[in-house]
Amino acid sequence: MAPEMVPIDGEQKKRVCYFFDSDVSGFHYGPGHPMKPTRIRMCHSLVMNYGLYKRMEIFRAKPATKREMTQFHSDEYIDFLSRITPVNMGSFIKEQHKFLLDNVGDDCPVFDGLFEYCSISAGGSMEGAARLSRDKCDIAINWAGGLHHAKKSEASGFCYVNDIVLGILELLRYHSRVLYIDIDVHHGDGVEEAFYTTDRVMTCSFHKYGEYFPGTGELRDIGLGKGKHYALNFPLRDGITDESYKSVFEPVIREVMQVYDPGAIVLQCGTDSLSGDKLGCLNLSMRGHANCVRFVKSFNKPLLMVGGGGYTMRNVSRCWAFETGLATGVELGAEIPMNEYYEYFGPDYQLDVKSSNMEDMNTQGYLDLVKTSIFEHLRGVGGPPSVQMQDVPRVPIDDLMDDINEDEDLVSPDERRPSRILDSRRQAEGELSDSDDEGEDDRRDHRSHRETDSVTHPGGRRTAVGIMSTGTTHGIGTSIATAITAGTSTPAAGSSGQSDMDVDEEPVSAERKGVDDAKDAAADGMAVDSSAS
Ligand SMILES: [Zn+2]
Repeated sequence: MAPEMVPIDGEQKKRVCYFFDSDVSGFHYGPGHPMKPTRIRMCHSLVMNYGLYKRMEIFRAKPATKREMTQFHSDEYIDFLSRITPVNMGSFIKEQHKFLLDNVGDDCPVFDGLFEYCSISAGGSMEGAARLSRDKCDIAINWAGGLHHAKKSEASGFCYVNDIVLGILELLRYHSRVLYIDIDVHHGDGVEEAFYTTDRVMTCSFHKYGEYFPGTGELRDIGLGKGKHYALNFPLRDGITDESYKSVFEPVIREVMQVYDPGAIVLQCGTDSLSGDKLGCLNLSMRGHANCVRFVKSFNKPLLMVGGGGYTMRNVSRCWAFETGLATGVELGAEIPMNEYYEYFGPDYQLDVKSSNMEDMNTQGYLDLVKTSIFEHLRGVGGPPSVQMQDVPRVPIDDLMDDINEDEDLVSPDERRPSRILDSRRQAEGELSDSDDEGEDDRRDHRSHRETDSVTHPGGRRTAVGIMSTGTTHGIGTSIATAITAGTSTPAAGSSGQSDMDVDEEPVSAERKGVDDAKDAAADGMAVDSSAS
């Protein structure tokens, strides 16, 4: 029986571009590391076996080049990433210290193919953004993207190259205002920092705050200079339920849409906000998480959906497959179809990720207080800012888009589609060796290693808290706002760690000249410089 896909009533038909590169699953952060690129392929396997290829176009993006990455990142940082390997890393001690500064306990290890991995992730988000801007699709999806912690010259929290910032920069060439929404359990600090002093990007992050990586994203961090009121942070406590999340997400986003009226939206869909995530501490079900996608989609703006965190692979793939379905206007059936990772989905082989009975530490009073405060910040916006749009300077991705136009004139859509699907099906075999990592043991080893290694940087710099070091006592990091203004308090600090989540681990059976122009354009209207930190 064909797997079930039920069209959703009353939905406008959307043209969806989906980016997948089969090479992505061949990269490994190292034994015991919670970030597993294989999850992207697991998701793709569900997407294909549910038949979603019939409802969207599937692309393998051109990997982002070093020059493209330096539209945001510093030249010397990207040069470092492109050169370092596990074999030669001994000769880059000084650079590692500089660029992998937050590398407390190997959050951001040097692994084989690191630069290639970053190129794939960034390439998908840039090309997705480029297709949206040229009206070649309504929604672009890049689950290999969403690496929101990466900074201008620094890797952080499993993220090296910030595909989101690069995607947003591409969107800003055509749109005067871009809204960034982040539903990862962690604060979207890298994206917020990149656009902290501009009104052309509003960043809006919902995240666990208080003794939690990366330590930034407090309620009073609202942007600086021209960017004041254009950063929003909704700090959450442990265990938020679907209903509570919806009760704050929808009114806040509705108000943001009203007040800011963006030309395009980027939605970071980190799935570590799901119940039972290895590193998360919230309690969203798949449907609660996906409601954010459904709601954001309902505004009918060009939408770039990217991945992000998510460390319980079977649930990451379930949720992103379901959200891919929603993007195309269908709801996937409950029964997981046969696929190359079928055994991961036992014992029930059901698509849903359920919430647990963990306590919700977000009282109605607390949520109302934060929501009211955010509405007050939004009143500071006073209507959408206007921007003098200038001629768009050419950058290399324009050549790529021209090539695509030619392709599309030559080949009928019907022929084009199968060949691309075929391409993305051409997978190397034998990459399933991560299956053992879904278990408990090496994770526990890794965590204990991490906990002994957490570091407070002297001299008042940002205090790094490793992602793995949740539940232990750390200083709360100072955001760039508070680094400049006077010290602030931590309204949401003080909730406990994530201890509940370990219980949920049931065993599983069985990312030029033109570039310089773009940089100049960027410097005109927006700050992509993180020198404030
Ligand atoms: Zn995360």
